[in-house]
Amino acid sequence: MLLVVVGVIVGLIPMAVPAAGLIAVSVGVSMLTAGSLWYFYLRFLRRPHLANTGVWLQKQTSRGWTAWLVAILLTGFYVLLYWFPWVLEGLIRPFDGLSGWMRNKPADHWFLYGAFYTFAVLLMGVRALVKYRHSRYQIIRTISVMFFQLVFAFILPHLMVLFQGPEFYFSYFWPLKYEYLFPGTVANLLKQPIGTGVFLVFWSATLSFVATPILTYFYGKRWYCSWVCGCGGLAETAGDPYRHLADRSRKAWRIEVAVVYPIFGAIILLTILLWVNSYLKGDLLGQFSGGFAQWYGFFIGSIFAGVIGVGFYPLLGNRVWCRFGCPMAAYLGLLQKHFSRFRITTNGGQCISCGNCSTYCEMGIDVRHYAQQGQPIIRAACVGCGMCATVCPRGVLKLENGPREGRYNASQLIHPDNLRILS
Ligand code: SF4
Ligand code: SF4
Repeated sequence: MLLVVVGVIVGLIPMAVPAAGLIAVSVGVSMLTAGSLWYFYLRFLRRPHLANTGVWLQKQTSRGWTAWLVAILLTGFYVLLYWFPWVLEGLIRPFDGLSGWMRNKPADHWFLYGAFYTFAVLLMGVRALVKYRHSRYQIIRTISVMFFQLVFAFILPHLMVLFQGPEFYFSYFWPLKYEYLFPGTVANLLKQPIGTGVFLVFWSATLSFVATPILTYFYGKRWYCSWVCGCGGLAETAGDPYRHLADRSRKAWRIEVAVVYPIFGAIILLTILLWVNSYLKGDLLGQFSGGFAQWYGFFIGSIFAGVIGVGFYPLLGNRVWCRFGCPMAAYLGLLQKHFSRFRITTNGGQCISCGNCSTYCEMGIDVRHYAQQGQPIIRAACVGCGMCATVCPRGVLKLENGPREGRYNASQLIHPDNLRILS
């Protein structure tokens, strides 16, 4: 861990001493990577079984002072990124070479952020691969989020810029990337040459309104939230040490429902209003047409998704944004609950009530409650990460996509009255 801490400090030197630039960042990243890999080896690879023990005894995973320190550093980084990017200038310049090679122009603070984000998903993805190496589902799922972050959310958008196109993120679409279906964005995309714009608009609309319902019908929201999405990818990799911090109280669930669905409703309303306004040539909203989008981008996109959603990982868990703020999660959740084959079946007779499943459910679902009663878990919030099944010592839980018939049927429990051991 010392190597990791020193690596972070060395990597940040260019903020104070810009001349240290590329050398300091290279040395810092190398030390951080080497220290992390060594830690993964000691903590996980040397043990023959899944090592989840002690998370409530270590300061960094139980809201101790180190957790607060990490939260303050992460939050501070987001504040600088969104509102004071010039402070990061010393960190941005060492990335000019990579940016020039990938997209033929100097780096900016968003390129720096994309590089850090992708690095975090890849490095902590290795950790997840090592930690969950006994689970085929977790291995494939982790490789999937690493692939989509690296290729779809980092390499492809910058290659688009290299070939004079827009910086387009293929793995994000409406309502998460709400502006992709706003009339202004669509009009700009359609100006692209040789059918590129038509393809991008077609891609966005098809993914949002055709592929999403179909894939969610067959696989539940997990196909996106736990396999493709960059926010989910960061949560499942860098956020994995904090998944047990999710609030499981009924109050948290009430807040979740009261916040996330209105946000989704606001996106639907805004999209409709903007299209009507566009049709009426600006007569409906006038100068306010861009106001709400800016307001939403500031409060939800910046403060909620970035500062709180990621910055507070060590304090509130790794899925705060997905649970309480993401309109895509709300959309997928409604489809999953009412129009999907997905459920987690529970073989209740095998459950020993250890509570591992509830402890490591990052969405705050009391999985054990369902397991004890043999009830299938069909919850809008469930992102299908499969962690409840992975940590269950009795093989009680199974993620399934069978036919919808009998979806809510409970499994047969063995009632004590039926045990006639001494008859
Ligand atoms: S119920 Fe299981 S699969 Fe669903 S979010 Fe919780 S841990 Fe993941
Ligand atoms: S982890 Fe498995 S055995 Fe333990 S409470 Fe959950 S379902 Fe039951």
